[in-house]
Amino acid sequence: MTGKESVQDLALFGAAPLFTEKLHVGRPNLGNRDDLMARINGILDRRWFTNDGECAQELEKKLTEFLGVKHCILMCNATIALEITARALGMKGEVIVPSFTFVATPHSLQWQEITPVFCDIDPWTHNIDPARVEEMITSRTTGIIGVHIWGRPCAIEALAAISARHGLKLMFDAAHAFGCSHNGRMIGGFGCAEVFSFHATKFFNTFEGGAVATDDDELATKIRLMKNFGFKGYDSVGYLGTNGKMNELSAAMGLVGLESIDQFVETNRRNHSRYREDLSGLPGVTLVDYPAGEKYNYQYIVCEIDEKEAGVSRDLLVEMLHAENVIARRYFYPGCHKMEPYRTRFPQAGFTLPQTERLSKRVFTLPTGTAVAMDDIDKICQLVRVALALGPELVKGAAARL
Ligand SMILES: *Cc1c(COP(=O)(O)O)cnc(C)c1O
Repeated sequence: MTGKESVQDLALFGAAPLFTEKLHVGRPNLGNRDDLMARINGILDRRWFTNDGECAQELEKKLTEFLGVKHCILMCNATIALEITARALGMKGEVIVPSFTFVATPHSLQWQEITPVFCDIDPWTHNIDPARVEEMITSRTTGIIGVHIWGRPCAIEALAAISARHGLKLMFDAAHAFGCSHNGRMIGGFGCAEVFSFHATKFFNTFEGGAVATDDDELATKIRLMKNFGFKGYDSVGYLGTNGKMNELSAAMGLVGLESIDQFVETNRRNHSRYREDLSGLPGVTLVDYPAGEKYNYQYIVCEIDEKEAGVSRDLLVEMLHAENVIARRYFYPGCHKMEPYRTRFPQAGFTLPQTERLSKRVFTLPTGTAVAMDDIDKICQLVRVALALGPELVKGAAARL
């Protein structure tokens, strides 16, 4: 950065956007294409497309080893995996969750008439604040779902202590945290169970998919039955179940992706460092960091903006970036408690969620992953710098081109 960037240099007010193609947050990571095609041919040859096929079995085995857990049960997506796991754990009544999460976390509970009780977050970690959790416990509370936001583990030990004290079930929504560790142990091994998402936009994807990791044999058996309609054998249903199975094409995608996982991490880590360098010293914009000493997937380039200091609001900045074809995203705006059906059910929830409300107005994410080049990152950061230097009036003009 020269510090002398001008509007002309960046064509900020130009007729065409700075990027000719849209740069999206969450563009999928893709492993070796030839390997994938070979595996798909194998699936077609075998004529075995789902129901615990060869690829699914191989992927479960590899993931179990990768995560260092006893059981890894593949699912069609993380939302169904969350629903099944909460049900298998016997959660009912009320379950405590953060509101600063993707809406699938509370939906997985509400879908089965379990009430999600929203708890505030720690403004530094963005994760559920254990100091607030105990205040939300009532006689109807049966469990807690911690979410490892951005792949940074939530306060696992504190939540485990609270759960033990109150006889609650503890599970984790680890949708962001595949490939991350806590105290040297891979995420997947904590609480009663942890749920991963392998959706296309996540760090590791199977087109759509997910998994439940657990060390509990009995729970694993129950979840396996539940994800397959409750079938114990041919013609024998011993359980209320649903369809949570992963198909063979998805499993093949996972197997191929897993081969390239180190390369995905390396690219993301390199991108994150570049963003850190490019955004350093910028008043009012803070890049969320991944502390040293643990494994991370660096999948999220998360910025927090202080509007007063930056001189430009988060929403205006995001609008301007969109005008330049940088599809930055607000996260998790406006917060689950402000979405239906929770908004109508709990109109007062905001009073107990001040940190959630504050943060959901400050956070945006920028594109990363194997589809983003270093040069793109430099340009994106230059855009942010120029926008902050120009101030709201001129930025509004740029955004108006949308
Ligand atoms: C993506 C996501 C989910 C849902 O995952 P799907 O596989 O799309 O169902 C759940 N929770 C969080 C925190 C997520 O980011």
